[in-house]
Amino acid sequence: MMDIFLQSLISDASIPQNGYWRERPALVICSNLNGKEEKIHTAKRWWEELGYRFGEIHTGYSGAECSGGYIQASIVITLSSHTYGLAQTFMQINTKNKQIQAARIELSQRSLQKHRCITHELGHGLGWSHSSEEMHLMYPIYELGGWEYFGLSFDQYKH
Ligand SMILES: [Zn+2]
Repeated sequence: MMDIFLQSLISDASIPQNGYWRERPALVICSNLNGKEEKIHTAKRWWEELGYRFGEIHTGYSGAECSGGYIQASIVITLSSHTYGLAQTFMQINTKNKQIQAARIELSQRSLQKHRCITHELGHGLGWSHSSEEMHLMYPIYELGGWEYFGLSFDQYKH
């Protein structure tokens, strides 16, 4: 007797979700992004096209949370000189109910030139994890990613 293992060649197109926002998250744009706010707005509009909604937008914020920490019910977006890789998103999630309490996106100077990277990070800020499909927005390697967005529509967002 021989065991036969079949491996599916068709990958599951669903995107893992780390958590979800129950209320619309506010966007807090740190003052160190001075002059680059429009890039955040462009990424925000991309997600709005898919049905997502955000709360208030605060620009020019210069509180301590721009260097670390969180603001409840908000996604803080800051420029960091010590970010690992292009950008990093940090999340505070209630482990019991998966509700996102707060998020902080740290962009590098380099990522500011990459509109798709900012849009990807905002996807993390909304709770999405990585896609295993190349050319997808949530593919983890920037160079092999793209603008594919299947699995990300607001209808598919568990909330
Ligand atoms: Zn990522």
